[in-house]
Amino acid sequence: MWQSKHYATLALLIGLGLSSNGIAQDNSQHPTAVDPGSNNAPPSDALVLFDGTDLSLWQSSGGGPAKWAVRSGKAVVNGTGNIMTKRKFGDVQLHLEWATPKKGEDDGQSRGNSGVYLQGRYEVQILDSYRNPTYSDGQAGALYGHFPPLVNASRKPGKWQTYDIIFHAPAVSDDSEVNKPGSLTVWHNGVLVQDHVPVKTPTRAASFGKPAVDGTGPLMLQDHGSAVRYRNIWVRELDRHRSTKPLNIHIISGSNEYESESSLEQYQRYLKERFNVSITASWVEDGAEDLPGIDPIRKADLLLVFTRRMKLPKQQMEIIEDHWQQGKPIVGIRTASHAFRRDTNQIFDHKVLGGNYQGHYGDEPVEVRNVAGDHPVLDGVGEITSKKLYKAGKLAEDSVLLQTGHIEDNRSDPVTWAHHYNGGRMVYTSLGVPADFEDDDFVRMITNAIFWAAHRDRQALTK
Ligand code: MG
Repeated sequence: MWQSKHYATLALLIGLGLSSNGIAQDNSQHPTAVDPGSNNAPPSDALVLFDGTDLSLWQSSGGGPAKWAVRSGKAVVNGTGNIMTKRKFGDVQLHLEWATPKKGEDDGQSRGNSGVYLQGRYEVQILDSYRNPTYSDGQAGALYGHFPPLVNASRKPGKWQTYDIIFHAPAVSDDSEVNKPGSLTVWHNGVLVQDHVPVKTPTRAASFGKPAVDGTGPLMLQDHGSAVRYRNIWVRELDRHRSTKPLNIHIISGSNEYESESSLEQYQRYLKERFNVSITASWVEDGAEDLPGIDPIRKADLLLVFTRRMKLPKQQMEIIEDHWQQGKPIVGIRTASHAFRRDTNQIFDHKVLGGNYQGHYGDEPVEVRNVAGDHPVLDGVGEITSKKLYKAGKLAEDSVLLQTGHIEDNRSDPVTWAHHYNGGRMVYTSLGVPADFEDDDFVRMITNAIFWAAHRDRQALTK
């Protein structure tokens, strides 16, 4: 009797579209599809931090390139100091694989010691803890000095082991007071060893003394003098998919011929009316030698660049370069392919955006074709007719071509593509003449590009 009543209630709840806790739920918004990968491959939405090739997404904690040895698909601790990601992360799911050296003479904390520091602050200890007694909150799987692992799931030294970690950063006030503790959950070789323990203060030997005010920090791997090996490191950023906090966009506009200022003023109104975004902007002209309102770039989640041949002083350029060096996303429009003076542009156009600007054709109409139909940037984007096709030259090998432009005499060139730089998503399009901003399909495409590059969910941010 109780059961049938229970089911009747459940059926009623489902019928009303209520979740079991009684909160109305919109079941028309489906979760994003993720290919989970097979044969130990990362899921399709993971950022791969080390795939055995190189440590280009990492740097030495003391500055400069990461100097750990990379051989046979593994990164090996070699006494050159801790390494950390160039990019900072908030809440994450992290997967990494590690192996301590085969057993030598040492015991206790000297045996296969390394560690993974979330946000450069909170160490999940890595140690050869196989039949190696040491203080319990210093074992493999410990949140070092705070919580011992629930069990010792260690494999023998020399064997590959896995950590799967869910980390939520503490919420912190402007003066680094913890308002709400973070949390840590760890599986060691698939066995739960930390079950949602609170995270409040950095562990010993952390790179930073206080919790991060902005809730982010780099991932750090410890050099504790043992030749620990690493492979297959990937991360999924948890806060981005669900987050409804505003996306911070900074616009750099300065392309007179194509009237970037009036187009982008109109476009930023469009964004603000429809989406939960916060927009700052620097408005300049072609060849600008000074960029006003540059400070918000430091906090911007994404740069929208539609400017031309700026010649900025070094200190200003460094603020912009910092953005892409951290792997933060950029959407570049039209003259963005030659946004800066020539030397910087070699890096920006070729390495960051993955392009190769070569000038342009005449004024004739351009028929734009989508060539990567299932790419999120082209979601719901129909045919676009533009004009004055750019010559794109040969794109970087790892650029993903999204649209091509076609003019008379069967001539065509790449128009829109996606690229990665230091783990960040970049999108460039050579479209962007004033008429394009009147075209719903172009506006849709640029907006898709912004959300995709920023790893943010368009629906979650829709007003
Ligand atoms: Mg350690």
